[in-house]
Amino acid sequence: MDRLIQGYKHFLADVFPQKRSQFRLLADSQAPQCLFITCADSRVVPDLILGAGPGDLFIARNVGNVVPPAVSADADGVTATIEYAVEVLKVKHAILCGHSDCGALKAALDPQALQALPKAKRWLRHVEAAFFHRQPLDPADGAAAELASLIRGNVVAQCANLKAQPSVAWAINDGLLTVHGWYYDILSGRIERYDDKTRRFAPLLEGQ
Ligand SMILES: [Zn+2]
Repeated sequence: MDRLIQGYKHFLADVFPQKRSQFRLLADSQAPQCLFITCADSRVVPDLILGAGPGDLFIARNVGNVVPPAVSADADGVTATIEYAVEVLKVKHAILCGHSDCGALKAALDPQALQALPKAKRWLRHVEAAFFHRQPLDPADGAAAELASLIRGNVVAQCANLKAQPSVAWAINDGLLTVHGWYYDILSGRIERYDDKTRRFAPLLEGQ
């Protein structure tokens, strides 16, 4: 905790003054262009990875970067966040980003691990659809290839749920919103994007 307090002191003394005018512009409104949905995992740092700053990303995080199915009648934080981002903020892009070594998909491969975690067990039923969208094993993933193929499959499954949200479906239909499925590799920093046409993942940047 001390390290975080020190970090806050640094923010107040050095960072905030440099960005004061930016925060002043943002103090009573925001207009992010991008909704970013990712896992709660501490190793995924969207602003750092994308060089984003205040006002850039509207972020929804949860274990397993889940988007519950549109047919679910339950209110939840993710779909409420999506609805607000699309209907009110009018974001132009929605990125759903999974990541290597994701504990949520490890649990899907080893359900016993969730015995003592009833809430997580219930939530992670939403990642079971990943099994239907498993991606080919990639030798570059080494011993984690099976897990990585399932994590990529989960990105595909959750993107389908995202696109089926009523607000998202309407915005896509009107040409106002594009949905992107990404896989982020913690070890290399590499990002892959899902290609709807080939139904495969490929490097986000050419030649990576
Ligand atoms: Zn994760």
